[in-house]
Amino acid sequence: MFNLILFGPPGCGKGTQSTNILTTYQLNHISTGDLLRDEVSRQTTLGLEAKKFMDNGLLVPDEVVIGMIGSKIDGNRDARGFIFDGFPRTTAQAEALDNLLKEKNAAINTVLSLEVPEEELVRRLVSRGITSGRSDDTEEVIAKRIKEYFAKTEPVAGYYHSFQKLVRVPGNGSIEETFAILKKEIEKHISPA
Ligand code: ADP
Repeated sequence: MFNLILFGPPGCGKGTQSTNILTTYQLNHISTGDLLRDEVSRQTTLGLEAKKFMDNGLLVPDEVVIGMIGSKIDGNRDARGFIFDGFPRTTAQAEALDNLLKEKNAAINTVLSLEVPEEELVRRLVSRGITSGRSDDTEEVIAKRIKEYFAKTEPVAGYYHSFQKLVRVPGNGSIEETFAILKKEIEKHISPA
């Protein structure tokens, strides 16, 4: 199994690059943002609880997100590997993910961190907000999401750095340029499917 984390702040391009990667390498995509938005749109108990945090730009509590990930991994036992997008976002989530993968005799192979200057993040998120219809893509909530990222999620990079798994990748070039850099890193581990 090859397991990859695509890491970085809101607006860094994780979603776009995940789509490129998963089609090229046949990996299963796990995006906690997408899973949560699906729960919200189905108005499940989990979704109604999560929405309060999401609409305020805050992280959803760890136990909620970790439970969702556990059932996703269990439901895809034959996967070639997973690409985790928007997860883990706290050190507690990172430790929980390590334990979940250990149970499957697997581990995180690499963490690719997309580095984009803050002004560019805001510009991208505001422009996405015009078409996305996402209730958290307003300037006020974007500012809170970025603040939450630097407070709680950025430290997760240090966690993976301590295991020599973190690779920092410039994410402010074009989509194609960024994908080319990511491919080079991924192909140190696996070939296209
Ligand atoms: P972005 O990366 O653009 O902020 P996401 O779609 O990944 O967007 O996440 C949207 C929101 O969903 C986050 O602001 C947060 O409230 C919630 N969320 C997503 N993933 C997680 C996670 N791993 N832990 C806690 N909350 C999460």
